[in-house]
Amino acid sequence: MEYIVPNVDLDAHECPLAVIRCVDWRFRESDQEYVVKGLGYRHFDLFGWPGSAKEVLKNNGFKTALLEKIVSVSRNLHNVKKFLLLWHWDCGGYGGSAAFESAEAEEEQYQKDLRAVRDILAKELPEDLEIIMAYSRAVPEGLKYSVLE
Ligand SMILES: [Zn+2]
Repeated sequence: MEYIVPNVDLDAHECPLAVIRCVDWRFRESDQEYVVKGLGYRHFDLFGWPGSAKEVLKNNGFKTALLEKIVSVSRNLHNVKKFLLLWHWDCGGYGGSAAFESAEAEEEQYQKDLRAVRDILAKELPEDLEIIMAYSRAVPEGLKYSVLE
């Protein structure tokens, strides 16, 4: 069966951003909406991995492969200027929200790990590639996304 997606723009565009997010299907649409509408990026490279870039903390082959592709593909080929580390609420990579004593403890852990991953990657990425961090948290109205300063 064939299926045609209309109006796909294959011409070269500036791609200002690369994103790494968790594979969790529950957050696929909301993560996309946040990057497009919340942060204002229409075009971005998208990397997906269970737990997002949390595995960088293990200092294993994942870190090596991620760094290599971010530089060789996103930066050098697509001219990306920023790299977003995007974590999400209730992430199975942490055992979900149930693994934490409170929402505050979960949020603190995400912030701590985001900063730790950022620090590791920043040492090895070119200086002209800015790393930004964000995460989602469940609130009564839905999912609240915050940029971590
Ligand atoms: Zn996850």
